[in-house]
Amino acid sequence: MSNKTLIIGAGGVGNVVAFKCAMNADTFGEITLASRTKSKCDVIAQNVKAKTGVTINTAQVDADSVEELVALIKEIEADIVINVALPYQDLTIMDACAACQVDYLDTANYEHPDEAKFEYKEQWARDQLFREQHIMGLLGSGFDPGVTNVFVAYAQKHYFDEIHTIDILDCNAGDHGYPFATNFNPEINLREVSAKGRYWENGKWIETEPMAIKQVWDYPEVGPKESYLLYHEEMESLVKNIPHLKRIRFFMTFGESYLTHMRVLENVGMLGIEPVEHQGQKIIPIEFLKTLLPDPASLGPRTKGKTNIGVFVKGIKDGEPKTVYIYQVSDHEKCYEEVMSQAVSYTTGVPAMIGAKLMLEKKWYQEGVHNMEEFDPDPFMEELNKQGLPWQVMELDADASLEVKEA
Ligand code: NDP
Repeated sequence: MSNKTLIIGAGGVGNVVAFKCAMNADTFGEITLASRTKSKCDVIAQNVKAKTGVTINTAQVDADSVEELVALIKEIEADIVINVALPYQDLTIMDACAACQVDYLDTANYEHPDEAKFEYKEQWARDQLFREQHIMGLLGSGFDPGVTNVFVAYAQKHYFDEIHTIDILDCNAGDHGYPFATNFNPEINLREVSAKGRYWENGKWIETEPMAIKQVWDYPEVGPKESYLLYHEEMESLVKNIPHLKRIRFFMTFGESYLTHMRVLENVGMLGIEPVEHQGQKIIPIEFLKTLLPDPASLGPRTKGKTNIGVFVKGIKDGEPKTVYIYQVSDHEKCYEEVMSQAVSYTTGVPAMIGAKLMLEKKWYQEGVHNMEEFDPDPFMEELNKQGLPWQVMELDADASLEVKEA
């Protein structure tokens, strides 16, 4: 019997997921793309049809409403829901999946609209419910979180007896030609990078001022880039699931122009998430900023250059110290050529499709709510090579390390 797949969210990532599911139609069967604005789904469906010959259905849904979601899931008799709307919708979509006994997957953990804080707590709290309903929820199946978690699981399985430190290294060296734009949803992106930094060491979270710590990493195929310490959500589950871990940090590259714009926007209050009164109307500054900035989906045709995201892992194998670096390089223009999206959406959408594929094929299947590193990394790593995200492993000198300093 053929599967039925529901994708929710028709932004940059939703576009890639729709294309990639269509390219794997044997697994995904009948595909429906639904979002708040149906016209965006229709444009994607037309492009998918023109490029792949596969027809996908489209629908309108407000994913903040469990009732509307339940009606849609039942109408199309979905076997799986791939949530690539915004993190604000995670809980409503999970609850609708539980009500309909349908498997669930997302790429970003729940974030409360009124508080710039994201964490797994409320999603993990649905584990029991998912078990009772005999369904699976796979959390964070994008690139980071997502592939980075699988890279760590792969390092653990094939290279280490004990992992002691992990540094996640995320570089986007793409140039879209605008003085300032964000590569994915501006609100989510700016909330993430303007928040305080945080890393985990010897059992404790250590908070830093935003962008206070940096290091230069020589990213293969890109070159040396300044990379800043940020909090990033995959650390929350890796701390829980990787035994013997002593420290985990996350670094991301930012160009000077991006940082200067961000500081100015922050200083003038444009990153605020509290409503302000403007000429008798209430507006939320960061939402208004989103209206002004280029739509991330429109960056695709103009972005050139590469991304490189990987994990630098140190630990012990057979009593000897060991250092391994696993990374993936994507090219913005090649991604656009294939699926009409730049590499940031591509590197998120492809792993979302792969996670869903492994769930439908029951290669990754366990009732309850799970993170990526809980599963055997090998089938996922094989799919990455087949589906457009080939990766490399470098065994470095055992004493290789990052030179971290204050920014
Ligand atoms: P976009 O803003 O481009 O797209 C979001 C889509 O969700 C839009 O189509 C929007 O609809 C839709 N949406 C928003 N609210 C609702 C709602 N209430 N009901 C129905 N649809 C809704 O975001 P991206 O595509 O860039 O990102 C998608 C997700 O991927 C985000 O959660 C983001 O955090 C995550 N992500 C994860 C990464 C990873 O590596 N793990 C990296 C990058 C992103 P409308 O068009 O009407 O506004």
